[in-house]
Amino acid sequence: MGEIAGEYETIVVGAGIIGSCTAYQIAKRGKSVLLLEQFDFLHHRGSSHGESRTIRETNPEEYYTAMMEEAFSLWEEAQQEIGYRVHIKTKQLDMGPVENKRLQSVIGVCKKLGIPHEVLNAEKACSRFEVINLPQNWIAVVTNRGGILRASKAVAMFQSLALKNGATLRDNARVMKISNGWKLRDGSNGVLVCTSRGSVLGRKCVIAAGAWAQKLAKEIAEIELPVQPIHTTIAYWKIEEGLDSFLPEKGFPTFACYNDPYFYGTPSLEYPGLLKISTHGGYPCDPDKRTLVPDLDELKKKVGPWLAEGFRGHIMSESPVMAEACMYSVSPDKDFILDFLPSTKTSLSRDKSPILIASGFSGHGFKMGPLVGRIMADLALKGEAHGVPLQYFSIERFLQNPKGNIKEYGEQVRPYVTS
Ligand SMILES: Cc1cc2nc3c(=O)[nH]c(=O)nc-3n(C[C@H](O)[C@H](O)[C@H](O)COP(=O)(O)OP(=O)(O)OC[C@H]3O[C@@H](n4cnc5c(N)ncnc54)[C@H](O)[C@@H]3O)c2cc1C
Repeated sequence: MGEIAGEYETIVVGAGIIGSCTAYQIAKRGKSVLLLEQFDFLHHRGSSHGESRTIRETNPEEYYTAMMEEAFSLWEEAQQEIGYRVHIKTKQLDMGPVENKRLQSVIGVCKKLGIPHEVLNAEKACSRFEVINLPQNWIAVVTNRGGILRASKAVAMFQSLALKNGATLRDNARVMKISNGWKLRDGSNGVLVCTSRGSVLGRKCVIAAGAWAQKLAKEIAEIELPVQPIHTTIAYWKIEEGLDSFLPEKGFPTFACYNDPYFYGTPSLEYPGLLKISTHGGYPCDPDKRTLVPDLDELKKKVGPWLAEGFRGHIMSESPVMAEACMYSVSPDKDFILDFLPSTKTSLSRDKSPILIASGFSGHGFKMGPLVGRIMADLALKGEAHGVPLQYFSIERFLQNPKGNIKEYGEQVRPYVTS
């Protein structure tokens, strides 16, 4: 492969789910786009690799639930275009103590937006899902639109679709510098993107660098992006041999448990005989220096005892039997950052600079990938994006309040970081 050169309408930095979807959306509109990745495509050192991510409609925040309608249809559209499926459909089960404010907010949002849902008490939930056993004061919310996204397969799908629609893709090309004010062929201003494989010009540049976003923002604009990389673990537990109740085709749902710790899981699908159950826990890391050895102690200690009771003894291992390291990029309010990157360190206000950033996905961005791709393509090509509440995702919100968006259900936030 030769050195990178030339000029593109948009250059996208980072080929995880967000960058791949953005490149696809731009290419599909007939505009030239270059997708750059610092490592091999589909590497396992970022946030989008692996066998599965959950997709669900439910969320304590109304704006995310409202956005899922378009996200689901964009997933469907891409699958139609490529000719295979990456979304395995099943129901979603949100469960937890009845007084949990976030779970109550999930129910309130379903009611408000007319999302079909059932609220079951512990007894009814146990008879509906025979391998689950909830404590007496717990409830479960069942919704129809849940499921598993085959993660790496989905990233590969969007890269293939981007390529098919005319995008240029380059891996092992680390972006080292992005600078403003360079003249393009038509005399207008653009950006120069310098990579480990040469330099290239673009009218716009979208940074979709996952856990590296903070470093890049600092290097490019001397801006302290309030995004913390968190090292976390994807874990699989052994289930009772011969039991088919955990299979999606037998109606086992994707699930989230609003408890301390908050944990989530998928049906037994990716690996026969294993169930994926992990927490939203983790600890701050440097994406270039962390060890890739998964951290199982926390899971064994905090989730293990609950699983023995909660799954009626059908989980056969006391700790995970398989695990993989992964990273979250966590913003202070756990909301996304989808915005123009301010050009000076003295102001965080939107100034429609030619550099844009999609970051801070805080452990819940995969399902929104196609929609975020649409939004970033709109922002890059048209300067604005409609149909989405961008005010929640601005960089400027951190000027008003360093903690970002105030949540309607109070200060109760997910315990992402463990010391
Ligand atoms: C364990 C775990 C479970 C999760 N579960 C869910 C879930 O169930 N549902 C859900 O919706 N979401 C989930 N998420 C969150 C979701 O996976 C992430 O929000 C999403 O993958 C983020 O994608 P990204 O493209 O922003 O980041 P990444 O996938 O990390 O992509 C960023 C890319 O940019 C590249 N890059 C960085 N710097 C440079 C540079 N200088 N030059 C060139 N390339 C560069 C990186 O190498 C990387 O490939 C989970 C995340 C984890 C870790």
